[in-house]
Amino acid sequence: MTGRPKGSAFLRDVTTPLADEPDWSLAACDGADTELFYREKDRYLTDAKAVCQFCPIRLECLEFATATGQYGVWGGMSRAERLDALKRRNAREGAKAGWQHRRQRQTLAGQLRAAGKTPAEIAEHLGVDLRTVQRYLSTTTAVMAGLEAAA
Ligand code: SF4
Repeated sequence: MTGRPKGSAFLRDVTTPLADEPDWSLAACDGADTELFYREKDRYLTDAKAVCQFCPIRLECLEFATATGQYGVWGGMSRAERLDALKRRNAREGAKAGWQHRRQRQTLAGQLRAAGKTPAEIAEHLGVDLRTVQRYLSTTTAVMAGLEAAA
């Protein structure tokens, strides 16, 4: 056997193969009992994770399994653990995107203020209420954008 991915379970589970798959020939599970990785019972999970612990392609394996929706233990995590991690990652990325959006609005509010627009005009332009504009304008981002625009 030349690595877990050649097992029948892998072939059955793959839905979206990636172009840059890990180099499975380096897999620590190469030659291991494939079934060990697909029995989601504590005893087997622990044994499978122990094999993954020092695998040189663990992170790549984890990314691959998450991206392709694999079942069983991959990259040292069960399917449930990978789904939890994915949810946390998505939440973090969503929060980051929200923060960037707010920052852009603060910058724009500062530039509009420097261009002589009133807070009411800025509110209308941005489609927000006056209070939100006042909050935007009180931030360092807006102040800096205003100073740069006025320079
Ligand atoms: S991380 Fe685990 S499942 Fe993935 S290749 Fe390595 S030993 Fe196999």
